[in-house]
Amino acid sequence: MDFELSEDLQMLQEAARDFADGELAPRAAENDATETFVAEQIALCAEMGFCGMAVPEAYGGSDLGALASSLVLMEINRACPSTGVTLSVHNSLACGSLIQFGTEEQKQRYLPKLASGEWLGAYALSEAESGSDAGSLRCKAAPDGNGGFVLNGSKLWLSHGDVSGYAVLFARTDPEGGQNGITAFSVETAWDGYNPGKHERKMGLRGSNTCEIHLADLKVPAENVLGEVNHGFKIALSLLDAGRIGIAAQAVGIAQACLDASVKYAKERYQFGRPIGAFGAIQEKIAEMATRTQAARLLTLHASWLKDEGRPHAREASMAKLASSTTANYCAKEAVQIHGGAGYTKDFPVERYFRDARVTEIYEGTTEIQRLVIAKSYLRD
Ligand SMILES: Cc1cc2nc3c(=O)[nH]c(=O)nc-3n(C[C@H](O)[C@H](O)[C@H](O)COP(=O)(O)OP(=O)(O)OC[C@H]3O[C@@H](n4cnc5c(N)ncnc54)[C@H](O)[C@@H]3O)c2cc1C
Repeated sequence: MDFELSEDLQMLQEAARDFADGELAPRAAENDATETFVAEQIALCAEMGFCGMAVPEAYGGSDLGALASSLVLMEINRACPSTGVTLSVHNSLACGSLIQFGTEEQKQRYLPKLASGEWLGAYALSEAESGSDAGSLRCKAAPDGNGGFVLNGSKLWLSHGDVSGYAVLFARTDPEGGQNGITAFSVETAWDGYNPGKHERKMGLRGSNTCEIHLADLKVPAENVLGEVNHGFKIALSLLDAGRIGIAAQAVGIAQACLDASVKYAKERYQFGRPIGAFGAIQEKIAEMATRTQAARLLTLHASWLKDEGRPHAREASMAKLASSTTANYCAKEAVQIHGGAGYTKDFPVERYFRDARVTEIYEGTTEIQRLVIAKSYLRD
């Protein structure tokens, strides 16, 4: 067992850190304030190879693997969680859908565009009536008589759904089939019938783009069915195993940002003639934040390592997401407390971290759903 990162991984981590500090951090507060999704920032990420982190080199990717991707995402999210969620969904869920389940033709057609950042990729599972209970989704896919399908309905909460070129989209092909009546589709968002709707006004991640999509007779040809017909729900869940590692890495990045800001402030802020870091109450908070953040980091890297080894990792991905997202929220709350009144203002970044951290316990499976997944995996075994 070796906890040391290889030289290559250390270099990658440093490159990601420098990039995040130099290119992303300076704009994060403004993008949050103005609710601006900055496409140029994603283009810069693409130049760094961060849009094709899981994509094999044969399709233009950087093929870094899950552990390396997590290290990169931790650094990106420490600086800008809005960019972080965009990269996580794009890499884990959209690119992942093609890498794991795409035909050779689909891979050749879409992966180079996604890996180069020419296209962003979205993941369209959630609907108004089906969130945690995603298997009850209603979007309809009716056979077109030529092996293809015609899709109708609405999808909710698509991260960057209206600025993507590609979406992996889940729709019902068997009205009576429950979870076994869902099919995954590789969709080009320029096709007629893929209609973006309203943008969500969010508490946090305000520099990311989240929108509704309405499907109006969207024609998907047979060659764009992803995997087998009626096997889409398994694909959705399998992709979320990787997605949850990405969100865990995001939460570790936010927790680390809270810790860094708190340590700095605890040294600079004087009360009663001493830096507040000299008080036991503040030291306890910093010790707890640091310990929880490190535990979350190790769980996330372990789940990533299992994925790279080709071993089962659903339970560990849920554990990593549960631990990291609750840690991010814990650290954000304590970071605001350490900053006192200043932490409640927009003059300090911890106010934004507090809002950004919140969603890590909600998307790609809520905290309650992660606990269900973990508990069931033990009770089943
Ligand atoms: C910013 C943002 C971006 C998103 N991006 C995407 C995206 O790109 N693609 C996509 O498909 N979706 C996306 N989502 C949707 C997200 O995955 C869902 O919001 C999430 O799965 C929860 O579903 P819900 O909001 O419908 O909550 P609900 O499922 O209605 O849950 C409400 C509450 O009930 C609890 N609950 C539900 N079922 C159970 C149960 N069985 N046991 C115990 N408690 C339960 C939940 O934990 C939660 O506390 C995004 C959401 C947000 C906020």
